[in-house]
Amino acid sequence: MLEARPNPNAGPGGEALFCDVAWLGPRSASAVLVVLSGTHGIECFCGSGVQLGLLQSGLAAARPAGSAVMLVHALNPYGFAWQRRVTEENVDLNRNFLDHAAGHPDNPGYRALHPLLCPTEWNDAVIAETEAALEGYARENGMAALRKAVSGGQYSHADGISFGGTRDTWAKSNLEAVLDAYLGAAESVGLIDVHTGLGPHGFGDRLLPFLPDDPAAVLAREWFAGDCTDQPAGAHMTVTDLHGVSPPAIRDRIDAPVFVGTALEYGTIPMPEVRLAMRADNWLHHHGQLDSPKGRAIKAQIRAAFYPETVAWKTQVWERAEETVGTLFRGLAG
Ligand SMILES: [Zn+2]
Repeated sequence: MLEARPNPNAGPGGEALFCDVAWLGPRSASAVLVVLSGTHGIECFCGSGVQLGLLQSGLAAARPAGSAVMLVHALNPYGFAWQRRVTEENVDLNRNFLDHAAGHPDNPGYRALHPLLCPTEWNDAVIAETEAALEGYARENGMAALRKAVSGGQYSHADGISFGGTRDTWAKSNLEAVLDAYLGAAESVGLIDVHTGLGPHGFGDRLLPFLPDDPAAVLAREWFAGDCTDQPAGAHMTVTDLHGVSPPAIRDRIDAPVFVGTALEYGTIPMPEVRLAMRADNWLHHHGQLDSPKGRAIKAQIRAAFYPETVAWKTQVWERAEETVGTLFRGLAG
């Protein structure tokens, strides 16, 4: 069963945009494996590959008897089409899953660094100067403080990076509608949200964005036999430093008695280079020209940062995905 859910915006070629839902297996299945791609738009190249691999390899068809597989393709179709991490609202979708009526956490580190992170000019001299200043901030305050400032999420600068938004994005509301429509009766759910750009090249880290004693984290450690990471350690942040991340919100919305969810995060290139690509792309969409040599170079830069197109990297991605899916199938069959 397939459903195409239209996004109200268009892609760079004027094309229509969709988030697609594929459901394999009985609609009434109580055990469901959910695989999400493109939370961070440009990371959807990798997530799509994993989803296609599940279909083409026969692994999705080899799911436990009576269970179902739900693939949600391109959660953030706008970011995927425009080759951005963020949504049409310039929002990091993985910081948007909070109750916006309840107020937003402050990120004083980000406020201090915003002018450095998001200058209005973008050239070699500006890049060298601002990168040196960011390194200076890390020397003075520690790497953890820099990571928290840059990546923890911020709700004060709508034109900045890591902006979590001050209201629900289309992508958040759309995913919630999908969860409500398809997973209301699910009792056991395994969730994989595919990401790229953090950690060692080619390694797929199963991040658990839950407090360590959360039942979802406890069960995940059991199912994965400890081969998972309790908090985004690669980011030198604790889970309490992150706000509005989606897996706990998804878990709460589904409210299934058995839930194991992981952000399967594949490393690409070193963190400072990923950060630079994000900064460049933010500059491009606020101050630059997409259709220019600089614009095209920045698009190539951000694509390479989130999707290393080598056979070796893709092979590592698939092998880890296959193993993760197999483990979740065994758990769901439990
Ligand atoms: Zn991501």
